[in-house]
Amino acid sequence: MIEISNIVKKYGNLYAVNNISFKVNEGEIVGFLGPNGAGKSTTMNILTGYLSATSGSAKIGGVDILSNPIEAKRMIGFLPEQPPLYLDMTVKEYLNFVYDLKHCTLNRKKHLAEICEVVKIGDVYNRIIGHLSKGYRQRVGIAQALVGNPKVLIFDEPTVGLDPKQIIEIRNLIRSLGEKHTVILSTHILPEVQAVCDRIVVINKGQLVADAPTSDIGRAVKGTHKYTAKICGDTKTVLKVLNGVDGILRAEPVTEREEGSYEYAIESDASIEVRKPLFYALCDARLPLIGLESAQANLEDVFISIIDDNKKEEN
Ligand code: ADP
Repeated sequence: MIEISNIVKKYGNLYAVNNISFKVNEGEIVGFLGPNGAGKSTTMNILTGYLSATSGSAKIGGVDILSNPIEAKRMIGFLPEQPPLYLDMTVKEYLNFVYDLKHCTLNRKKHLAEICEVVKIGDVYNRIIGHLSKGYRQRVGIAQALVGNPKVLIFDEPTVGLDPKQIIEIRNLIRSLGEKHTVILSTHILPEVQAVCDRIVVINKGQLVADAPTSDIGRAVKGTHKYTAKICGDTKTVLKVLNGVDGILRAEPVTEREEGSYEYAIESDASIEVRKPLFYALCDARLPLIGLESAQANLEDVFISIIDDNKKEEN
């Protein structure tokens, strides 16, 4: 549904976006993630036709945004970080205005009523937007993106500035919109991505550094597995054995669980199966292994490690 191929955007000598390619399939909710200055907004702006790329192409539903912008834009509903609201209009006036702007041909009354029901703004339909709470304003922002029933929805930081209850409501809303639309969610809030997205694309310094299903991101990014092991015995001896196992990259004691046994965080090379050799090595050393679990790296760790790896490569 969305195909970004080899996009480059240069500002003078600076590569704001440097050869990024990724696809979003129909019905997917993809999180677009990266630290400040990574190139997220530049990519979103190219994708939505607000900026032209120095080179490369962006296609929506097979239509190139540069060579056929009107047709491509018809397929996109965009909620920018600052929703484009007219505060002195009522919700009704505003949505009718957007309907006209987009030259929408769907049945006006029915279509707007459906949108109001989906985003739950029916009770404020005749109120002035400037008098609404931030949560409601954000819903109105989402409503304008839905006018014309576009296949693709692009949300830029949709929950910034909302209170915790509003945040959960907006995330639930985005998830439910994902059932009928293809969604790109640009955000820097990691739990949001985990709560909402099927896949994650991470960029840093204009380059794509990860692209994987949300559940796989820990593995996909670092090529390592993490385990938590409970082992009886003195930590120094245990660490010596652990560090001698081929494929174990890092091991450290985390907490003392029961008298004489500790929990260890172990990181191993994903291409090497370490569990069996780990078991035998501990047996040989007469150090009982009383628990071994796979521990998924959390997104926060992963994100920091990606950024760190990028820094190391630069030095
Ligand atoms: P993000 O949205 O991830 O924070 P941006 O896409 O806004 O990142 O910016 C990527 C890089 O491009 C940054 O280094 C930023 O300073 C630079 N940049 C963005 N817009 C311009 C511009 N109009 N002129 C010059 N540099 C820009």
